[in-house]
Amino acid sequence: MNSKQKTIGLLGGMSWESTASYYQLINEGIKAKLGGLHSAKICMVSVDFEEIEKLQHVEDWEGTAVILSEAAVAVEKGGADFLLICTNTMHKVAPQIEESISIPILHIADATAQRLREDGIKKVGLLGTRFTMEQDFYKARLTEKYGIEVVVPEKSEREDVHRIIYNELCLGTIDQKSRDRYLKIIAQLAENGAEAVILGCTEIALLVQQDHTVTTLYDTTAIHAEQAILKALSN
Ligand code: GLU
Repeated sequence: MNSKQKTIGLLGGMSWESTASYYQLINEGIKAKLGGLHSAKICMVSVDFEEIEKLQHVEDWEGTAVILSEAAVAVEKGGADFLLICTNTMHKVAPQIEESISIPILHIADATAQRLREDGIKKVGLLGTRFTMEQDFYKARLTEKYGIEVVVPEKSEREDVHRIIYNELCLGTIDQKSRDRYLKIIAQLAENGAEAVILGCTEIALLVQQDHTVTTLYDTTAIHAEQAILKALSN
């Protein structure tokens, strides 16, 4: 098979726990497609998440945009043909990042929405940081661009989902009690009419996998990585 592939740009480190998943999934996917000793062509810049997280929690999105745009420019200079921002939340500043580079961004919500559409899902539950669950940059894209209705957990559930992401998953802590809490929230979303649930934070699949629940899960990390592989191998 022709091994000519594009170079995948990764803007990572948010957190590095999930960027490690991207790196592994993309390389495994390229190996599965091309065989032999093939591996992915990747150019990555990984930021210090503590800096980003501090700015997020005082809502200094412009500050995050400056750091991430600079990192994205470095990814482009390193030879990437297109860019993945390896976090759902920081797609909030995808428009600013996009303006600073000339390579295209493979948007995580578009990749996910396309899969939902292919599968005929019309109403979906969304788990992620409170920024992703509560603000419009992600939900509105699914609804306005793809006609998919989005439901989110109630306030106290959203607080737990958010806290577990930052205090546990981004630090590599996997806890059974937190898994049980997530599974209860997923079941509640299904009860409220969600036909499936988006794991809309790139660390959630470290805690919850498809065999833990009967509700269909859409893991944004895996979907984003898969789309990157297809794009890297397309003409
Ligand atoms: N990786 C997470 C996400 O997909 C959360 C960390 C962040 O705030 O970037 O949203």
